[in-house]
Amino acid sequence: MSNIVAIVGRPNVGKSTLFNRLLERREAIVDSTAGVTRDRHYGKSDWNGVEFTVIDTGGYDVNNDDVFQGEISKQVQLAIDEATSIIFMLNVEEGLTDTDYEIHEMLRRSNKPTYIVINKVDSAKEEIDATEFYQLGIEKYYTISSATGSGTGEILDDIVRDF
Ligand code: GDP
Ligand code: MG
Repeated sequence: MSNIVAIVGRPNVGKSTLFNRLLERREAIVDSTAGVTRDRHYGKSDWNGVEFTVIDTGGYDVNNDDVFQGEISKQVQLAIDEATSIIFMLNVEEGLTDTDYEIHEMLRRSNKPTYIVINKVDSAKEEIDATEFYQLGIEKYYTISSATGSGTGEILDDIVRDF
């Protein structure tokens, strides 16, 4: 049984930055599957000796809001279908958006183990700003800085423990 962790969220929240950090010193898997998976990147990572596959979703880089929403829901649905755990990434710089609520609702209904991660928490100020995300009706979130890696250990501890 392989464990697959997908990173989902709106564009620019920092998904690829976290993905690349998790793959440090490792090679991305070149995926040749045509069609819907072409927007995604796969890689292998491990934490405390536990190996898992990571999926970076996205690749959509469009400004039209409708295309945008459709693409994001598609990627979230693919993650729900394929992943064993999902990291839902949010961006404290931009705050909570309607799209975030929609993604959260899809994930909630899926019953997949979901880890809500607020990214770009680079200092104590953003730690306070992040409390805004309780408006999603959640009990727990993680705060990280993908740029520096701070906070990523705690979430990985929890993810691999739940495998
Ligand atoms: P994606 O579209 O979700 O894959 O986001 P990217 O990983 O491409 O990151 C979008 C932008 O946010 C880039 O300019 C990153 O350098 C920046 N970024 C990512 N993580 C952090 C972070 O923890 N703190 C800050 N300040 N910027 C970040
Ligand atoms: Mg990206």
